[in-house]
Amino acid sequence: MSLMRLAYASEATFEAKPVEKGVEPHVARILMTSRKNNARGKLVGGLYYGNNRFFQYLEGDEDEVRKTYDRILQDDRHRNVVTLIEEPVADRTFSNWSMKYVPLSRDVQRFLESQGLQRFEPASFTSAQCEQMIELIRNSSHDQKLVNHDEARTVRETPQAFSPGLKAGLIVAGLCLLGALFFAGSML
Ligand code: FAD
Repeated sequence: MSLMRLAYASEATFEAKPVEKGVEPHVARILMTSRKNNARGKLVGGLYYGNNRFFQYLEGDEDEVRKTYDRILQDDRHRNVVTLIEEPVADRTFSNWSMKYVPLSRDVQRFLESQGLQRFEPASFTSAQCEQMIELIRNSSHDQKLVNHDEARTVRETPQAFSPGLKAGLIVAGLCLLGALFFAGSML
C-alpha cells in the first residue's frame, strides 16, 4: 500500500457567517463530513480556513487520498482549487487526527507576518511556506486548546459516567460499607 500526501488551496464560495463555537458554520459541516469519511479511510491531515480561503493537507493511502480529493474537487462550496503538493510519502507524519481544524490562529498570523504576507492567500504560497503551514497543523494537533466545534461538542456531550464529587462519595460510601461489614463480622 503506497502512501501519499496532498495539499491544496481554494476559495470558499459561501459568505462567511458569524463563528459559532470557534468555527464558521459551513466549515463546521465540512469538518463533520471530513472527520467521518477520513477516519474511515484512515486519512489524516488538517484544514485551515481564513480570509475566505482554505488550505488543506491530506496524508494516507494513495487510493483514499485520490478518491477524497476527487470528491473535494467536485464540491461547490469552494472554487479555484490549486494543488500545491501531490507526492508519495514514506511514512505517516500525523497520528490520531482524521482532520485537524485550525482557525486563522495567532500562530498562522505570526507566520504570515514573518513572511511579510498581509493576508492568508495560500494559493500563492511557495513550497517552503506550504511546509511551514503543514508544520503548524502538525504542531497544533498537540494543542487541545485548538479543538474545533465538533470536538468541543463531543467532549461536552459525552456523558461522564461519574463526576469527581460522585466518585469521591462512592469511595467513601464503599469504605463505610466495608467498615460496617468488618464490624458486623467481628460481632459474630
Ligand atoms: P454527504 O453525505 O454527501 O454530505 C455530507 C454533508 O455535507 C451533508 O450534510 C450535505 O448536505 C453536505 N454537503 C455536501 N455537499 C454539499 C454542498 N455542495 N453544499 C452544501 N452542503 C453540502 N470530504 C471528505 O471526505 N474529506 C475531507 O477531508 C474533505 N475536505 C473538504 C474540504 C473542503 C474545503 C471542502 C469544501 C469539502 C471537503 N470535503 C471533504 C467534503 C467533500 O467535498 C464532499 O462533500 C464529501 O466528501 C461527501 O461525502 P459524503 O458523500 O459522505 O457526504
